[in-house]
Amino acid sequence: MEIKKRNLVIGILGGGQLAKMSLLAAAEMGFECAILEKESSSPAGKHSRFEFKGQAGDQEALDRFIDVSDVVTLESEFIDPGYLVYIENRGKKVFPSSVTLSMIQDKYIQKKSFSEAGVPVSRFVAVESKDNYISLSSVLGEKFVLKSRTMGYDGYGNALVNDQESLIKGLEKLKSRNSELMAEEFVPFVKELAVMVVRTKRETVFYPVAETIQEHHICKEVRLPSGITTEQESAVREMVTKALDAIVGEGIFGFELFLLSDGTILVNETAPRPHNSGHFTIDACVTSQFENHIRAVAGLPLGSAELLKPYVIMVNLLGKRSGPGFPDNYTAALCEPDVKLHIYGKEESRPGRKMGHITMVGSAEDIYQRALTIEKEIHL
Ligand code: ADP
Repeated sequence: MEIKKRNLVIGILGGGQLAKMSLLAAAEMGFECAILEKESSSPAGKHSRFEFKGQAGDQEALDRFIDVSDVVTLESEFIDPGYLVYIENRGKKVFPSSVTLSMIQDKYIQKKSFSEAGVPVSRFVAVESKDNYISLSSVLGEKFVLKSRTMGYDGYGNALVNDQESLIKGLEKLKSRNSELMAEEFVPFVKELAVMVVRTKRETVFYPVAETIQEHHICKEVRLPSGITTEQESAVREMVTKALDAIVGEGIFGFELFLLSDGTILVNETAPRPHNSGHFTIDACVTSQFENHIRAVAGLPLGSAELLKPYVIMVNLLGKRSGPGFPDNYTAALCEPDVKLHIYGKEESRPGRKMGHITMVGSAEDIYQRALTIEKEIHL
């Protein structure tokens, strides 16, 4: 029998918290990760023997990163799909593939692909220079959301419009992002939902649907159960499967959805990677999103996504001050024995920056309030 010289090395484009948590899951399975990140000592880079300083556009760093990686994945979809084509042409499989990334990266193309595949989405149009409030509102209704087609995250690429004046302001705000624009009808949702799904050639594993709660367009909390019915959960799985078929999706995907007052569910968008709304899976599920991501990338069977306890809350620890990236005081949080604390290891904290998260699982709703109280005591 041939003995392999070394175990699999998974290359990750990016070295932030998603890369770090993927790397930790890989390490538990005996794999190593190579990290390509523009700064050294990134949250993931500082845990890797194969840390490459640079961006995908730095040819030498990219080539060295590809040389050491058996397979490649990413932690952000804001990368030119051309680099993925380059990696694929060098004989390394990439998750998500360049084809999938190029169908997802532009939110307009993504929504168009979903809508053509019969996935329920809100009404949307591409914004052209001749458009004005009257032309857009005649298709989308009085209130709509202007969105940068690319590079939008945490709501930075969005602007709410309800008249010509707010349209001009929105166009002004989003112009600086150098992206083409789209507009979507304003969805009067009663809840925002999210679901993680992992798909390989052989199987598909869905995590339970979660409720997400945003503050200033940034996800603050994720709670389970989401409160939707079993029928609605099946409907979500059906629409996500159609959406994945449309984008030839293989690997892990996070889907964001809107629940309307009449029970209708619409897909908002997807991200082709582990997702903040799936962090609860580390402490609350048999197999975390990160472990299943690594399993998918490594071509292994997937693990169960079942919840260990029925009630779950994940609260993001967003920077409350500018300063070092570790908390002033861990003690208060850790006095609560059920709390699982995750600090990402970013060098610097800034107000609103995602610095860590806490998770609590339990048998009753009281964990929600307990977790929120603890979050207030963690200063970082
Ligand atoms: P990003 O990629 O920046 O996260 P999203 O499209 O997910 O952008 O929008 C961020 C948030 O803005 C959503 O979580 C939701 O709260 C709100 N939002 C987005 N699109 C709409 C819409 N069509 N109607 C109402 N609210 C929306």
